[in-house]
Amino acid sequence: QTFGPTDLNEVVTRTVRLIQNEMPQGIELKVEQEESLPRVEADAEQLKQVLINLVQNAMQAMADTGGAITVKTMRPERFNDFRPSGDSFVEVHVSDTGPGIPQDEHQHIFVPFYTTKQKGTGLGLAICQRIVKNHGGTLVVQSKPDEGATFIIRLPAPPAEP
Ligand code: ADP
Ligand code: MG
Repeated sequence: QTFGPTDLNEVVTRTVRLIQNEMPQGIELKVEQEESLPRVEADAEQLKQVLINLVQNAMQAMADTGGAITVKTMRPERFNDFRPSGDSFVEVHVSDTGPGIPQDEHQHIFVPFYTTKQKGTGLGLAICQRIVKNHGGTLVVQSKPDEGATFIIRLPAPPAEP
């Protein structure tokens, strides 16, 4: 593992450039980046792997319907305030316009070997979550059926420069 100061926007740009060429007809991959995010202590290759996994899941979820995938970087407003705990985070959101994930499945999808696919391994999200936790962060899902799914990678980062 090679953790070092890492520019999330750079990782996202590089990863999206890589995947962009592989997008099937009918699925659009968009990027929205917040400028001048603080760097995170991370292994860029592992983060790239997480992003690829999440985008791939989104593509598979929309294989029959088509749709859009958005990769968004941000520092949520609430983390800009002074926090006595020192908590400070940046986030990458990977959203899709697919079928979404029912609430009662949210607890299962990160479990190794849980899959709803004919030829799924069920390992993607388990590995993604382990990688993000290794970085001191969290990986969670927000989704309602028919409203698509959003996976949120949250990583510790120093407070923004004033
Ligand atoms: P696999 O892709 O091999 O099935 P994952 O761990 O990557 O394994 O995902 C586990 C399950 O979570 C999937 O089988 C699917 O049911 C659900 N899932 C993951 N991402 C999405 C998504 N973007 N939209 C809908 N369901 C999803
Ligand atoms: Mg997968």
